[in-house]
Amino acid sequence: MTSTDPILETDGLEKYYDPSTTALEVLRNRLTRGSQEPIKAVDGVDLSFHENEISGVIGESGCGKTTLLETLIGLHEPMGGEIYFDGKPTSKFGKQDWHEYRRRVRIIFQNPYEALNPRFTVRRSLMEPLSIHGMETNEELVHDVLERVNLTPPSQYLDKYEGELSGGEKQRVAIARELIVDPDVILADEPVSMLDVSTQVAILRVLKRLAAESDLSVIYISHDISTVSYVCHEINVMYLGNIVESAPTEELLEDPQHPYTRELLRAIPIPDPDHDRTRSNIPGNPPDPVNLPSGCNFKDRCPDRMDICDEEPILCSTDENHRTKCHLHYDHEQHPDSQATDQEYRAVSDGGRE
Ligand code: SF4
Repeated sequence: MTSTDPILETDGLEKYYDPSTTALEVLRNRLTRGSQEPIKAVDGVDLSFHENEISGVIGESGCGKTTLLETLIGLHEPMGGEIYFDGKPTSKFGKQDWHEYRRRVRIIFQNPYEALNPRFTVRRSLMEPLSIHGMETNEELVHDVLERVNLTPPSQYLDKYEGELSGGEKQRVAIARELIVDPDVILADEPVSMLDVSTQVAILRVLKRLAAESDLSVIYISHDISTVSYVCHEINVMYLGNIVESAPTEELLEDPQHPYTRELLRAIPIPDPDHDRTRSNIPGNPPDPVNLPSGCNFKDRCPDRMDICDEEPILCSTDENHRTKCHLHYDHEQHPDSQATDQEYRAVSDGGRE
């Protein structure tokens, strides 16, 4: 491994669900040998996460980002593809590897009000993960980690119970509890969405500093492109189980290529009455994940839809660090995986816009 190698990587990662909601439906689906299409919550996702970086995964509710995170943490077994940690495939992990993975890859949840045990003091909440992972439990470590999340002086917090802390303080203790075991990766699942705006900014600053100072890789999952843009070095846009665009944050904000990304960006409120951005008005809802249309999953909501969009586009590089999954943005003749030739593409793009 070199410092430029990803610490965590997915290659064609898949996680599907049986859409049956009752035992009878499950039985019927089994008897008919799974004739019902599965829900493709994560459908062939390739991502790389590096130390000292915060990578965002953004999308509407139901796009698969939480399933992606839960698969990364090991709560779900992938149904296809691979997760590599520190260069090793997790499918080959033994019990000890998983134990170590659970120390090195940690998660911060959305709701700080449920994150801590109300019967534990802050000291005990922070000592517990050290004991679980067989690490030395000492007060110095606890002081140090509280300082790193700006809970100072630490002595003021150590003997407090969860109920004596504000929402922002609870989330800082929750972050400290994950940091104390010296992880390589932190998965942050909408970590500030339940906090007031000024507390959100303070927590986001803490995450930014930690990633820079502690060689951490933070994977930040959210539906809110404002917070993702503020904190992330790169953004991955997810729609119905697929990554449809990835780019460094500045580039994505300045040159969004996928029509879905463009609409998400229109949703960022701008505090300027003369600014010409209107709130996003993406027509319709995402299609039923059980009966997805053929071709591009976004086609029924896309303002740029063309005839060729009935064929599935491929995710390909449009720039050194920019990838987009849209027929508008690649040379079809250079991508033999694509079912359409560039000639066909040009023919429809010249006259096929609806
Ligand atoms: Fe729109 Fe077609 Fe691009 Fe899909 S492939 S986002 S439908 S232009």
